[in-house]
Amino acid sequence: MTSLPLIPIAPDAPAARRAAMPPRHLADLDLAGRQALVTELGEPAFRAKQISTHYFGRLVRDPAGMTDLPAATRDRLAGALLPTLLTPVRELACDDGATRKALWRLHDGSLVESVLMGYPDRVTVCISSQAGCGMACPFCATGQAGLTRNLSTAEIVDQAVYLAGVAASGAVAGSPPRLSHVVFMGMGEPLANYSRVIAAIRRLVAPAPDGLGLSQRHITVSTVGLVPAMRRLASEDLSVTLALSLHAPDDELRDELVPVNQRWKVAEVLDAAWDYAAQTGRRVSIEYAMIKDVNDQPWRADLLGRLLAGKLTHVNLIPLNPTPGSRWDASPKPVEREFVRRLRAAGVSTTVRDTRGREIDGACGQLAAAEDNDTDAPQEATA
Ligand code: SF4
Repeated sequence: MTSLPLIPIAPDAPAARRAAMPPRHLADLDLAGRQALVTELGEPAFRAKQISTHYFGRLVRDPAGMTDLPAATRDRLAGALLPTLLTPVRELACDDGATRKALWRLHDGSLVESVLMGYPDRVTVCISSQAGCGMACPFCATGQAGLTRNLSTAEIVDQAVYLAGVAASGAVAGSPPRLSHVVFMGMGEPLANYSRVIAAIRRLVAPAPDGLGLSQRHITVSTVGLVPAMRRLASEDLSVTLALSLHAPDDELRDELVPVNQRWKVAEVLDAAWDYAAQTGRRVSIEYAMIKDVNDQPWRADLLGRLLAGKLTHVNLIPLNPTPGSRWDASPKPVEREFVRRLRAAGVSTTVRDTRGREIDGACGQLAAAEDNDTDAPQEATA
């Protein structure tokens, strides 16, 4: 198989840290930190709770909507705690309005994406943790562009708060109005931006007005397999779901599909996943993009089945959403069905993921890539 150069992988990599970070926002701080800042600004500490109740409890992000605050106080606090982090570039809807994708421009011009997905029993948002991604998976649009920078905690949280507000407005027909699930499966490798992602999770699960009040069990963090960070995550007192993007059961192919495998091999990554499951009692989700004639052979299904049999795990097969001009394609349905059959025969719980948002460049990074290539594109939200 292709031999690729080793790539430097370190959580919170210095190159990413050097890039321009956005101004501080209230979602960067916990409630105690907000109270300390508000006091420093000469306002009573209860204003921190008031402004946090607007942001996390009522999903009001625009200071102009916080009308119970005196105007002078509002201006002072808005300047210090509510800078604009995300400017909508495009918002697109498909699946009869059940899927809505947002493309944001950040303060430094970087583009990131989030997706809101409505189901009869829940509303999920898929959020980005980095602008771009340094993991270089060759089948992924984001991976082709490389890493621009880590997102701040507030840039991560603000995606969820914005889309929670969209859901609350009733825009997602046939779904409950309250955001219930968050998956870190947008642009970026969440565990490469470890400290900010953990802080963002703590904001998402803290009860309002400290945070959004989501259940830890309704948060999923994906990783390509940064083993030290997976082990660190297991030691946090968080019971979030870990989703491991495996994509191949053998090192020869995984070295190519997921280049970080050159650093941490399949056996080592799976060991860390099983330790996470043992530590948290949470089933680890194994993500496997089905790529035609690349990783979808029956023998690979059997090998995967042997690796996973008897473990606390579930396999999510993902029909590949090919990027324009890509040499990778989705596996044909009969091949996919045979793969599922073999995994189930090995006793491994397996489902094929619902592919949302195909007609709106649903795979991570496709909307941003399209925007970069489309100079005539409207710069305002269009949905
Ligand atoms: S698949 Fe995920 S980890 Fe790999 S390059 Fe794309 S965004 Fe990064």
